[in-house]
Amino acid sequence: MTQPIIVIGGGIGGLSAAIHLAAAGRDVLVLEQNPAVGGKMRLIEAEGFTFDAGPSTITMRRALETPFAAAGRRLADYLTLEPVEPMTRYFFADGTRLDVTRDRPTLLAQIAALEPHDVEGFLAFLSHAAALHRITGEVFIYGDPPRARDILRLPLRDILKVDAWRTMHQAARAAVRDPRMRQLLSRYATYVGASPYRAPAVLNVIAHEELNEGIWYPQGGIYAIASAYRQLALELGVEIRTEARVTRINVRAGRARGVTLTDGTALEAAAVISNVDVTTTYRDLLPKTATHPRVRARRLAVEPSGSGFVLLLGIAGETPQLDLHTILFSSDYRREFDAIFRHGVPPAEPTLYINITSKRTPEHAPPGCENWFVLANAPPIGPAFDWEREAAAYCDQVLTRLDAFGLNTRARLRYQRWITPLEIRDVTGAWRGALYGASSNQRVAALQRPHNRAPDVRKLYFAGGTTHPGGGVPMVTLSGGVAARMLLEDTED
Ligand SMILES: Cc1cc2nc3c(=O)[nH]c(=O)nc-3n(C[C@H](O)[C@H](O)[C@H](O)COP(=O)(O)OP(=O)(O)OC[C@H]3O[C@@H](n4cnc5c(N)ncnc54)[C@H](O)[C@@H]3O)c2cc1C
Repeated sequence: MTQPIIVIGGGIGGLSAAIHLAAAGRDVLVLEQNPAVGGKMRLIEAEGFTFDAGPSTITMRRALETPFAAAGRRLADYLTLEPVEPMTRYFFADGTRLDVTRDRPTLLAQIAALEPHDVEGFLAFLSHAAALHRITGEVFIYGDPPRARDILRLPLRDILKVDAWRTMHQAARAAVRDPRMRQLLSRYATYVGASPYRAPAVLNVIAHEELNEGIWYPQGGIYAIASAYRQLALELGVEIRTEARVTRINVRAGRARGVTLTDGTALEAAAVISNVDVTTTYRDLLPKTATHPRVRARRLAVEPSGSGFVLLLGIAGETPQLDLHTILFSSDYRREFDAIFRHGVPPAEPTLYINITSKRTPEHAPPGCENWFVLANAPPIGPAFDWEREAAAYCDQVLTRLDAFGLNTRARLRYQRWITPLEIRDVTGAWRGALYGASSNQRVAALQRPHNRAPDVRKLYFAGGTTHPGGGVPMVTLSGGVAARMLLEDTED
């Protein structure tokens, strides 16, 4: 009997890898430690409320189509992605509101009301972001992991446009004058858990994905994506075992041969794909002696991206001033990121992101109520902040901020639960609770990301947010495709 390919972890990247492999005719077994697949994309249900407790902003629709295309299917037969309009509602610290909409004239009129000169600057910023996407897409996102020589092969005029020397904030500052617009354009750094004051301006490509291409809402809620991937995987014959925790990847003669589960069962495999955080894989799953000391040391030294503090709130009544996606900006963005990335503590006055899926999927809350997912950027787990001790006080701080925006949250609270970086680590294996893998705060982050093919253990591959092309639901979907492609190439040798 042929041995299956084992995928450790049923996160979005693991499911995508499994689909690509099964579509190529391979036997695949997914081992997921939790009762349900999805990983960071997870559902929490309590007291009549349903919360999408992980990702909420879905961009890059075409990336989500790739597993379906690999299987000769259509995404639309599994998942209905509706355009979100307006995409995001912003409230600035001075009370100004701005709705970012796909309707350009309406958006530009709002920008002109803040600062007339910024209309031109904003449009130039967007076309620059689109150019970044054209130039860097093939190198950094859609192909195999980038090498320095891939960048050097780009035409010189394109290399000069890549904006390698400025930070994201410097680029936003050069484009627009109004501090509120600068804050808005800088915000895309948080989509990879980075600071706009450190992350390279090339990451303004993220603004292109959202502002030029749009945000999508899966009918039924975000978890519909995990359900659709799971359904497709099962249809293709993938075996998915939940509550199956891997404790070790078994390596013999330099080659991954299978895994051992918590109960001691050893399973043989033709190859292994780890959808678990690469650092966690090296630290906890790979025997030290089976790895190369230099590779292991590099993996364990990874500086993680930011994490998040989430409040799930069941709220009585409706809140028309909030939309599906709403941002309540802080008054001092630089201080906020200094707290997170310099001092390793959550900001005293955090910018808050609120997602209310019951506005689109009424079944997510009891009649007359709303389900609020409130996210504050937070540092990865570290010595400067003790979430066990401080979470309740920080929750209180966040509620106070919500009430400062006139939302009357405390009086309307029907349900409350928080998720700290510790829980994110424990539920998904994320190293230090990072949401997006390795930090993107350095200029060469994309070149340093762990490769999808383990350099020191044959037949071991990585799929997910901590490997190429990076974190976020669309990117990890692509990552599964890259890992599967490499594995299949190696099999052909
Ligand atoms: C609060 C929050 C907000 C986010 N917001 C967004 C957003 O708006 N938009 C966006 O695109 N992205 C967002 N993200 C990021 C996005 O969710 C992730 O990048 C993506 O879901 C990660 O997928 P992954 O394939 O890397 O696997 P993960 O989701 O990390 O899953 C790994 C899987 O491996 C399993 N596992 C771990 N160890 C073992 C083991 N030993 N044995 C068996 N199984 C194991 C875990 O249980 C898990 O299911 C957010 C994440 C969080 C947490």
